[in-house]
This record gives sequence, C-alpha cells and structure tokens, in this order.
Amino acid sequence: MHIKTARQLVKWSMILSVICAVGGLLFFKPGTQISLYVTFAAFGLMVVSMILIFGFCRCPWCNKRITSGLMKVQVCPHCKRDLDTGLKPKGKGKRR
Ligand SMILES: [Zn+2]
Repeated sequence: MHIKTARQLVKWSMILSVICAVGGLLFFKPGTQISLYVTFAAFGLMVVSMILIFGFCRCPWCNKRITSGLMKVQVCPHCKRDLDTGLKPKGKGKRR
C-alpha cells in the first residue's frame, strides 16, 4: 500500500473513531446496547488506524516505518527521499 493511501486511511479511521466515540456519548445513554456497539466501533477503528500506522506507513524507498509527523511529512526521515518521487533533496549542498 502506498504511504499516501495509508495516510488517508489512518486519517479517516481516526476521524470516524472520534465521531463514534463522541456521537456515542452524546446520543446514546451509557449502558444501553447501542452505546456498547458504538464504543466497540470506536475502539475497532482506533485499532485499525494503529495497524495501518504500524503496518503500512513505511517509506516506499527504504521501507522504514514513519510515525513522527506522519500526516505532514513529505520527506522520509530515514533516507531523506521524497515520499512521492523518491528524489533526494536538491540544493543546500549538505551531504552525509
Ligand atoms: Zn526512507
């Protein structure tokens, strides 16, 4: 799975889990069966987003996991390649 797809899925599963959690608290009385389902759904979505983060949010070039700044990172923190193009940053003249 491409990192951008994974990132989108993580975003949406997190949003949905928050919606489930908040909506469940707002609209259903605690202890009822439906609030239980909503809580499970929220928890399940949270687990899904965790699995996505740890399983699929990897750099396509060096295959290392990217967790910090996942939502906005454009360049791999490990190999410094652009996650989209795989190009190393030009200019600046800093080499390792
Ligand atoms: Zn990398």
